[in-house]
Amino acid sequence: MTKRVVLVGHPVAHSLSGAMQQAAFDSLGIDATYELWDKTSVELADAIGELRGDEFLGANVTIPHKERVVPMVDRQTDDAHLTGAVNTITREGRRLIGHNTDVPGFRVALDRLVGKQKMPRQAVVLGAGGGARAVVYGLITEGFQRIVVFNRHLHRAEGMVKHFGRSAAHMELRAMPWHDSIIEAELAKARVLVNATSIGLTDDTSPIPAESLHGDLLVLDLIYARTRLLRDAAAAGATVADGELMLLHQGAAAFSLWTGQPAPLELMQAKLAEARAGGLRSAEGEPAGTAAADVAAAATAAD
Ligand code: NAP
Repeated sequence: MTKRVVLVGHPVAHSLSGAMQQAAFDSLGIDATYELWDKTSVELADAIGELRGDEFLGANVTIPHKERVVPMVDRQTDDAHLTGAVNTITREGRRLIGHNTDVPGFRVALDRLVGKQKMPRQAVVLGAGGGARAVVYGLITEGFQRIVVFNRHLHRAEGMVKHFGRSAAHMELRAMPWHDSIIEAELAKARVLVNATSIGLTDDTSPIPAESLHGDLLVLDLIYARTRLLRDAAAAGATVADGELMLLHQGAAAFSLWTGQPAPLELMQAKLAEARAGGLRSAEGEPAGTAAADVAAAATAAD
């Protein structure tokens, strides 16, 4: 029987994950298909319930459902439980297990960004959705001592800070209101800036004014594209990286969870690059046109 893996999100058309995962299954001779399931919040519980069937290896969960899906699985791994977000589901019999492979994906991206320098201790995070939870958890566990989170809706950032209460007991994790002047003041003290909002995904806008960026910053945008933020930061002399490595490594970790086999990383990276060059888009990926407008709508709908 051909096994099935699905990407559940809204929308999910033109997924970059599909290109890399299907190629990975095919190259290892695994008889499985990677399908895109566009499901609204109302349809989500039924969709997740369907995954209990024998033909499913599991699923990926993306924008805007990573937090909403948590109570729909039967057990969570530590990374999923501690972040409060699930991006990968596996099946044990009829039981669904929730994982968060964004966490290891983010760690690879952060390590590459920091390079041979000493790991910094102060960070600013923009956003408080499912992706931001993996980022904040990754920073806490890397030993960051001060993390300030800015989000359009402050209450969501405050909820996230509260969620991390125990994990962050030894350090300072704060939610602050989104004001350009406050962000600039915090950036002046920070070494790492992560954009985990969808701003820049659908159009060429930056979440923050170029003037607030400085040359000592290490800037990671989770969006898989050379965003306005990254261009502004590079122009200010900062070191920058986009979401490619995180996307690749969260996908590789998910592949291994579904199949029990090491992921063909080089092939997956090549497929991502190919899909990107061919103009494919995804909720985790590079935006453009109508599909990107839908992604923006979905991100906003997650409010
Ligand atoms: P999500 O849970 O839907 O959260 C979206 C975030 O973006 C929230 O913080 C939201 O703020 C903010 N936002 C959306 N539109 C905004 C606007 N117009 N103005 C200000 N803030 C806005 O989505 P997610 O899963 O965290 O994903 C967020 C981003 O990270 C996406 O661009 C996604 O592509 C990227 N991502 C990439 C990877 C990767 O592997 N590279 C992995 C995960 C996520 P509010 O709470 O105020 O609405």
